[in-house]
Amino acid sequence: MLKFTLENCIACNKKDWFKLFTINNWDIIQCNICGYARLNEFPEINTRQDFYSKSSIDNRALIKKRGPAKKLAAVVRHYLRKISGRDKGTYFRGRLDFYLSKGDKVLDIGCGNGSVLSEIRTKYDCVGVEVSRHMAMHVEKELNIKTFCGNFQEVDFGDIKFDAVMMVSLLEHLPDPFESLKKCYELLNKDGVILLKTVNHQGVNRRLFGDQWTGYRPPDHMVYFGKNNLEKMMENIGYRNIIKSGGLFNDSFYCEAIK
Ligand SMILES: [Zn+2]
Repeated sequence: MLKFTLENCIACNKKDWFKLFTINNWDIIQCNICGYARLNEFPEINTRQDFYSKSSIDNRALIKKRGPAKKLAAVVRHYLRKISGRDKGTYFRGRLDFYLSKGDKVLDIGCGNGSVLSEIRTKYDCVGVEVSRHMAMHVEKELNIKTFCGNFQEVDFGDIKFDAVMMVSLLEHLPDPFESLKKCYELLNKDGVILLKTVNHQGVNRRLFGDQWTGYRPPDHMVYFGKNNLEKMMENIGYRNIIKSGGLFNDSFYCEAIK
């Protein structure tokens, strides 16, 4: 029995949903007006925590099992990345250097094993947030970077404000993207910058590969933005000078904006 959401779209505020696909028994619905897509129902928090725990690694491997279309997409992606010569580290380092001065305060939400933070920690005053206790401890102990462990929405930062907030491939994992980006806005100093990378639901690859598109990973990926509807939602929060970038055939895109 399909229960379409009764909520308004968080990007365009209209209520006009249709079912796009059912993937691994998860219904994905899309806004008819702006193209924002999401799971019809989000998984329980307990299920999500299981998903990120070590015991579910086998499940993840199963979910990621690739069909022929996905294998082809992976090969194409590999070569396009080689041609463009740009990886996520290059983008985030470059844009931070553009906006910030030495010693400015940077927050990386969903910092994982600290791969991006480790490259910038000597230049900026870095703080991480990571839901996995194992990885949070690694970043704090091995990289010596202050790291909050837990869900971003539940972390109390006290009076700390930041000059830059990063979300590297995190937004698609969040059931509350509007509230999360609003919290980022509140955590930023005036003229602070947000930098993020998320899957591109309005990109060529998604249109080309349909339900075989590599970005569809329910229930791990819960929400699916494109460049235009993400910009609209960020404008509604108050962000300005929004810049979206990312190659035509990339599965993800970058977005940066000022408070
Ligand atoms: Zn919409």
